[in-house]
Amino acid sequence: MLKTLRRIIQEISGAEDFREALKIMVKRIAKALDTQSCSIFLLDRRHGEYVLMATEGLNPHAVGKVRISLTQGLVGLVGEREEPVNIDDASKHPRFLHVAEVKEESYKAFLGTPIIYHRQVMGVLIVQQAEPRRYDESEEAFLVTLAAQLAGIIAHAEATSQIVNLFDSRDTSAEATYSGIAGAPGVGIGTGVVVFRLLDLTVIPDREPEDIEEEIALLESALMSAREDFRVIGERLYPNLPEEERALFDVYQRILDSSNLGVEISSVIREGNWAQGALRSVIQTHVSRMESLEDEYLRERASDIRDLGHRVLTYLQRSDRSLPQYAEKTILIGDELTAADLAEVPEGCLAGVISAKGSSSSHVAILARAMGVPTVMGVNDIPIYDLQDKEIIVDGYYGQIYSNPRDSLRREFTHLAREEQQLDASLEALRDLPAETQDGHRVMLMVNTGLGADVGLSLAAGAEGVGLYRTEIPFLMRDRFPSGEEQRVIYRQLLTSFAPRPVTMRTLDIGGDKSLPYFPVVEDNPFLGWRGIRISLDHPDIFLVQVRAMMRASEGYSNLRIMLPMITDVSEADEALRLMKKAFADVREEKYDIEMPQVGVMIEVPSAVYQARALAKRVDFLSVGSNDLTQYLLAVDRNNSRVANLFDSLHPAVLRALIQVVEGGHQEGKHVSICGEMAGDPAAVILLLAMGFDSLSMSASSLSRMKWVIRQFTQKKAAKLLQDVLSMENAVMIRCHLELALDRAGLGGLIRAGR
Ligand code: PEP
Ligand code: MG
Repeated sequence: MLKTLRRIIQEISGAEDFREALKIMVKRIAKALDTQSCSIFLLDRRHGEYVLMATEGLNPHAVGKVRISLTQGLVGLVGEREEPVNIDDASKHPRFLHVAEVKEESYKAFLGTPIIYHRQVMGVLIVQQAEPRRYDESEEAFLVTLAAQLAGIIAHAEATSQIVNLFDSRDTSAEATYSGIAGAPGVGIGTGVVVFRLLDLTVIPDREPEDIEEEIALLESALMSAREDFRVIGERLYPNLPEEERALFDVYQRILDSSNLGVEISSVIREGNWAQGALRSVIQTHVSRMESLEDEYLRERASDIRDLGHRVLTYLQRSDRSLPQYAEKTILIGDELTAADLAEVPEGCLAGVISAKGSSSSHVAILARAMGVPTVMGVNDIPIYDLQDKEIIVDGYYGQIYSNPRDSLRREFTHLAREEQQLDASLEALRDLPAETQDGHRVMLMVNTGLGADVGLSLAAGAEGVGLYRTEIPFLMRDRFPSGEEQRVIYRQLLTSFAPRPVTMRTLDIGGDKSLPYFPVVEDNPFLGWRGIRISLDHPDIFLVQVRAMMRASEGYSNLRIMLPMITDVSEADEALRLMKKAFADVREEKYDIEMPQVGVMIEVPSAVYQARALAKRVDFLSVGSNDLTQYLLAVDRNNSRVANLFDSLHPAVLRALIQVVEGGHQEGKHVSICGEMAGDPAAVILLLAMGFDSLSMSASSLSRMKWVIRQFTQKKAAKLLQDVLSMENAVMIRCHLELALDRAGLGGLIRAGR
């Protein structure tokens, strides 16, 4: 069964388009289960109906026409129950619905299973047979497994716009709304600019060509270049190649001949697709055909065709047309955007960000927040490639996206965006005022830098220092480790810009989702693996170079603080301190006139929470990394959009952990700070105040907003709210309670669009 299953999945994932994939699926399932009929109904959400989308055994003319309401028939029953329905004689079942058009009178046995993705029913997969019988357990398991695979394919097809006309009613120029995860607050209105990974054939979208003849000319030149490559490689290798491998190079060249592959791709271009899209479509068809062959040798050849396609794509993408044309107000859209994608948008042009994958604690969302760009993450069912050049509104408060908005909606959001600008302008007046509650409780407000926010922006926002400098950024921007001197220059700049304000430099925190291209760490569980301080202690060479560079850079200043990430055990702190003392002695010996910097540890794993006091005894300060602490306490991958709804730093367990950390630090008389994204969440800030954090470190764009919160509350009121929420059992209730308090204090503009 597993072999059959794998074959079916391979075939459908290589199908030319989504309809084709569905057709292949019903045909193959019917054959594999030796049953007379197999059909797929998909849910048309807009009309609340299941639509017959593919069938083997029912009337093929009914495809796309037969619609069954959610509460009707056995199909409706499968959707309602959200589990398989297995009946030996369907015609006798009270929910049996006679639909003349499908011509299913001759079938008795019925097995239907729901197609579910992210808890939502997307459709129903059914098999039928003339003789009355119950399908056995293995058949049922097979169908359920296929339905689960199909769910992922449907979601992917929607995201990559392969379902262009899934339901006849779909109209890509009509207004549409999509929901995701709020990534960075604010309202952005602009034009969709879709970026996709270069050199990945599978993600190339279909696109209407501007000039068909030009596309064909581009294709021909790319084919010629690829052919030339194979000729040269072939010639170079011929003397050492066995006979059959030599033949392969000849075959490659022949396939690339414009009279073979060229003709096929050109005809797809003439049907209205650009050269890259046409190449993807033709290569995928060939690959899937070969992968479905019985002969193993021929099946293996599918990867040769794929390689060939990639080589041609390389040449097609060398023409600059693949580079995105940014709009004046760009809403940047991608399947999985990276920090580099954001950085490439010309300054002043980025109005919003939409990433189909990722969550609010992904580093790209952190960067967007630092830049103050409204962002929505993890929008699974968004037809990314349809949004190119469309007018788009991004509501980064509620994680909502609107494409082709009607006039009234656009007016409403334009008004809200203007109100936001006024709010930001009015907050500028707070710049030089202290972050102090109305009853005199003072906290320090610091910035997180390294991921984009520049020094000028931070100082202009009134930052009292740097609470977190992510040193991995200069490491990520090179193709080798930066030398000690290169690092010293970078660190010196930062210390100078902020002096005499404190600058907290975190030692290298790679691993997890941050890997250096020249120091790859490949692991099954990177977030539980070789990460942060673990790498530094295993590589004292890298660690010592870094801390020495920091210390040398601090000459003449006394504002350097060094912070250790991912500490899980006191012995790690002890060992790091030993190395730092050694580095200090070395640098002093070099005649640098420096002071020993303050050293702190990050509290970002549960074990460190329980040992906060023991850690505080050894160091000068503690700083909570609430992004990782939430991830590890709740066992929720911070980058995984599938579980993003479970990631909430207001979870009661996280709140109790924070209280314990503050207590542990203060019992030893040490400064306790927090530098995760939680410190820039207005609802959370009230609680952090009450817990007694000495400083909060956040992105520069959040600073004035959080100062506003602090100045609108009293410590007494914050303590009361903390007491209230500690009796609540889930994050949703806690957030509602705090947002209500913010609204009542006149701070509603921080949790939704407008003032
Ligand atoms: C954190 O984990 O909260 C943190 C501040 O570090 P990073 O987001 O860089 O992992
Ligand atoms: Mg962290």
